[in-house]
Amino acid sequence: MHGFSYKNASLFCEDVELATLADEYGTPLYVYSAATILDHYRRLDAALAGVEHEVAYAVKANSNLSVLRLLANEGAGFDIVSGGELFRVIKAGGDPAHCTFAGVGKTREEIVYALEQGIYSFNVESEEELRYLNQVAGELGMIAPTAVRVNPNVDAHTHKYISTGKSENKFGVDFESISGLYERAAAELPNIRLRGLQMHIGSQLTSIAPFIEAVEKVTPLVKHLKERHGIEFWSIGGGIGIIYKESLESGALDWWENQAEQDRPLTIDRYGKELVPRLKDLGLKILLEPGRLIVGNAGVLLTRCLYEKKGAAKTFKIVDAGMNDLIRPALYEGHHEIAPLKQPESDVRVAVDVVGPICESGDFFCQNRELPEIQAGDFIALMSAGAYGFAMASNYNSRPLPAEILVEGKTATVIRKRQTQDDLIAGEL
Ligand SMILES: *Cc1c(COP(=O)(O)O)cnc(C)c1O
Repeated sequence: MHGFSYKNASLFCEDVELATLADEYGTPLYVYSAATILDHYRRLDAALAGVEHEVAYAVKANSNLSVLRLLANEGAGFDIVSGGELFRVIKAGGDPAHCTFAGVGKTREEIVYALEQGIYSFNVESEEELRYLNQVAGELGMIAPTAVRVNPNVDAHTHKYISTGKSENKFGVDFESISGLYERAAAELPNIRLRGLQMHIGSQLTSIAPFIEAVEKVTPLVKHLKERHGIEFWSIGGGIGIIYKESLESGALDWWENQAEQDRPLTIDRYGKELVPRLKDLGLKILLEPGRLIVGNAGVLLTRCLYEKKGAAKTFKIVDAGMNDLIRPALYEGHHEIAPLKQPESDVRVAVDVVGPICESGDFFCQNRELPEIQAGDFIALMSAGAYGFAMASNYNSRPLPAEILVEGKTATVIRKRQTQDDLIAGEL
């Protein structure tokens, strides 16, 4: 499900009218549906019920404290990629003992901090990092719980910038080298505790096949590592894709419900049904690291049309959100549906480019897309902006970061204030 739908031709998030929020708090404005976040988390958790598991939310997708708190209260674990993310999780009431720490470039400071906080596992991406982790843990007189990330060399069939499980990607250790590395670690690295194995083949996967391929390929290795080194968990990563492209013509935006089962590229149920039987007899705790699936369809970015500009070749709708607020289209050709907050009465559609104010030609949200008539002053929603939206926002062009709102039923709470111009220069000389 997701919590966005038209009521009386006005777009709502749960029971809150988005136009009211845009008027009250200004634009650009991120709005998240708490019910959607919780629904996605609970459905994934339920789909894995047949196997001992933990859902570790990938914090980088959306790291707002209130979003993390919502998930912490549900009992989620967290997959972090920096010391800053661990700090956020702890501030939000998350338990470090349920945190896994991913990423190819952990610094000494981050390692020390995570050791001191007692995280569940360091997910290590190279032999050099493993040896360094052993050294730092040794200096502190501690043992570092560790998994190595295996690169299974499986094609995730996703955008090249978010594919991570092929040999040419920088991520993980080659499948063929893992056993030898665990042997050396067991023999030579006394401050490493080999606790698990990790993999993550890419993001926004829209079919089940690559997940199955990776699980089947790595299963013999996992069994071997369990027997030989007593590992207790296998993290099969995140990467479950969401639906970005959907016609809004029907006026209803609940595309999860409205699509026939066989037309859905990859559903949570399908993921569970295919993977649980393949995992349940391993005697390992299975970790999942979903980010986008949990929050992607749970958020929108509201923006206001400032001007129309009719060029010789094209019509541009210039809006007050830019690529600094939502970089997915510019960074990896990400698609966002565009929905007017007030449904127009006419069915007229016009091919337009919706562009931001940033001084970059990549600063667009769509090109040559047929949209309902949008006038200066109208609000629109960029749909499915809950993941890798605000989390990737920057101050480029000295633009203050947008505010964020969390909707729970009838209640809308500002969970991050809009930055001020003073915030822009804080810390500068
Ligand atoms: C980014 C990332 C995830 C989350 O990916 P999604 O596509 O958002 O589910 C999970 N695990 C690791 C190691 C990651 O880097």
